[in-house]
Amino acid sequence: MDLKNRTIIITGASSGIGAATAKSLGRAGARLVLGARRTEQLKEIASQICQQGGVAAVLPGDVEDEGYAEALVKLAENEFGGLDGAFNNAGMVGDMVPVTEMSLANWHKTLATNLTSAFLAAKAQIPAMMHRGKGSIVFTSSFVGYSNGGLPGMSAYAASKAGLIGLVKSLASDHAASAIRVNALLPGGTITPMGGEGDAEIMAFVANLHPVKRMAVASEIAEAALFLLSDRASFVTGSAMLVDGGISARLI
Ligand code: NAP
Repeated sequence: MDLKNRTIIITGASSGIGAATAKSLGRAGARLVLGARRTEQLKEIASQICQQGGVAAVLPGDVEDEGYAEALVKLAENEFGGLDGAFNNAGMVGDMVPVTEMSLANWHKTLATNLTSAFLAAKAQIPAMMHRGKGSIVFTSSFVGYSNGGLPGMSAYAASKAGLIGLVKSLASDHAASAIRVNALLPGGTITPMGGEGDAEIMAFVANLHPVKRMAVASEIAEAALFLLSDRASFVTGSAMLVDGGISARLI
């Protein structure tokens, strides 16, 4: 996948899709900067990557903080000499209730974690990539940012994930001349802690919404992230790539 010695930031690397992508990128030879809030989980993922011959540095923090976005970039530059790519993947669902029952605090928190964090990441990462002469940024959106899919109580989450798609298109357009590609990845229901992993009833409900009648495993989403981060996707920018087991196809 042309990722050998590429330096890539991954947020949400302590769990689920981010951890699976970190391991795949590590196997592909990338040098990784792993972010999330939970230090022990991050260290465990980094240690698994290093045991397989990969290279990974960790920096715990909260993606809602502007200083954290900047610190991840600084670590990439100081430790590995520059920044080639970023998988801005950290996210949360929040309260799954209709807006009539949703607190303003939940709305703000969901938008801050899922969308404002993307603005902060792009603001910190793009200058470093301009310095490098090229780059690839991938944001994890969701099928829910594109079509509801039959999940209840998704208003704040859907707004944040649809907002990401709009942000991606503007970033791609603004920075194409600097050879920086920016794309959104839209997973379908995926077996992770956020996706209800371990709860048979939730997983059966979500799986059943998909035409393929199953949820994704995180490594299937990682495959698409690797593609978008690699030079194989050299003509792909501003896209919203659905990797969703067809859940959007039947509803549009
Ligand atoms: P997950 O296993 O719960 O992982 C979420 C990750 O985000 C964790 O590593 C968590 O780390 C990190 N995170 C959350 N809030 C953070 C914050 N404020 N600061 C820093 N890190 C934070 O869930 P996942 O399914 O892999 O989710 C990854 C992405 O995929 C999310 O953006 C999610 O919206 C999206 N997605 C998931 C599905 C699905 O069905 N699973 C479907 C479509 C899209 P810490 O707790 O250690 O901070």
